[in-house]
Amino acid sequence: MFDYLIVGAGFAGSVLAERVASEQNARVLVVDSRNHIAGNAFDFYDDAGILVHKYGPHIFHTNSEKVFQYLSRFTAWRPYEHRVKASVDGQLVPMPINADTINKLYGLRLTCHEVDAYLTSIAETRDSITTSEDVVVSRVGRELYEKFFRNYTRKQWGLDPSELDAAVTARVPVRTSRDDRYFTDKFQAMPLHGYTRMFDRMLAHPKISVMLNTHYKDVKNEVRFRELIFTGPVDEYFDYCYGKLPYRSLRFDHQTHDQDRYQTAPVVNYPNEHAYTRITEFKDLTGQKHRKTSIVFEYPCADGAPYYPIPQPQNAALYQRYKALADTLPHVHFVGRLATYKYYNMDQVVAQALRTFEKIKETSPAKAER
Ligand code: FAD
Ligand code: UDP
Repeated sequence: MFDYLIVGAGFAGSVLAERVASEQNARVLVVDSRNHIAGNAFDFYDDAGILVHKYGPHIFHTNSEKVFQYLSRFTAWRPYEHRVKASVDGQLVPMPINADTINKLYGLRLTCHEVDAYLTSIAETRDSITTSEDVVVSRVGRELYEKFFRNYTRKQWGLDPSELDAAVTARVPVRTSRDDRYFTDKFQAMPLHGYTRMFDRMLAHPKISVMLNTHYKDVKNEVRFRELIFTGPVDEYFDYCYGKLPYRSLRFDHQTHDQDRYQTAPVVNYPNEHAYTRITEFKDLTGQKHRKTSIVFEYPCADGAPYYPIPQPQNAALYQRYKALADTLPHVHFVGRLATYKYYNMDQVVAQALRTFEKIKETSPAKAER
């Protein structure tokens, strides 16, 4: 008899497993259908001995002191500020768009103040900012939108920015300074020995058992438990009774090259050419020294593992129907990117899991019996 069955060993599942085991002395079984822990943050040493992220680049950044302190119990950190270049008009220029991007692209020498005035002069007026197109054209005008955002977004999502919620392209700021960091969060760092090692330590509590290669449906009638924490797709849990929630998938092409460096930035985005969106060079992210280099190409696709919930009003409405069902189940907790159908970063999932634990503490029958 387990106090908790937790489906999924990603951030959502592992944080909650650690919390209920450590704080409630609960007996926990974590199952994951994959052959590894850490969910999409899983990293491993490839055949060349280079630490790579199986499911694409995972860069940790947060403004939450609470989240950073919590994870710091399980890992030391390597300070890392992420930088990205975009391949546009035959040049590699800083992304997010900043003063240097504009100057390099157009062969200008504008000051930051002049860039600000320039962007204001080319921005289009919009009555309301509803879509991902609105966000960008109202800030940088149509030409830069076409060069940097329109085609990348069509490739990444299979949709035009005008069909996607504003929040998608709003993830990427536009700057008139020369700051070329991808993120400006207070805490920016990578787990010193990788994500998987951090998850190993999170799940090392003696009250936690982990079963890999195990789907929820394989155990749900075999294992006895009091509370269920489900971090898989919420529509799957309810047998798609209202229809499927749409997800965007990716195909990853991992390669190792017999050379020290492959490209001049940790990530290079290709908005307009190629079927892939970006190439990541892992040594930049991890700081590993190696005479070879490993990279990954990301090819967006419709079919495959559910990586990205698709932020559109009709999908949010469909999710609300599932959420209403979920809310009727007091002993089942839905947490994480798939179970709450939110385009969350890692830190947001950790924060959500920590909040869920606070709620569970109030209501869990396991607590009362201990
Ligand atoms: P997941 O990591 O998806 O874990 C869910 C787990 O549940 C999976 O291991 C799955 O196998 C398992 N599972 C699902 N259903 C079942 C079932 N029925 N039975 C058994 N097991 C099941 N975030 C950042 O902060 N920075 C980044 O740079 C970043 N880059 C990203 C790049 C890509 C390409 C992607 C796809 C995501 C990126 N993210 C990034 C987001 C990050 O991956 C997520 O926020 C985080 O991993 C979500 O954790 P989770 O536990 O909710 O879900
Ligand atoms: N985006 C874009 N061009 C870029 C980078 C991003 O159009 O060079 C858009 C695109 O729609 C993408 C979104 O901004 O999906 C968010 O970008 P981010 O880098 O945050 O994507 P993620 O790392 O989550 O895949």
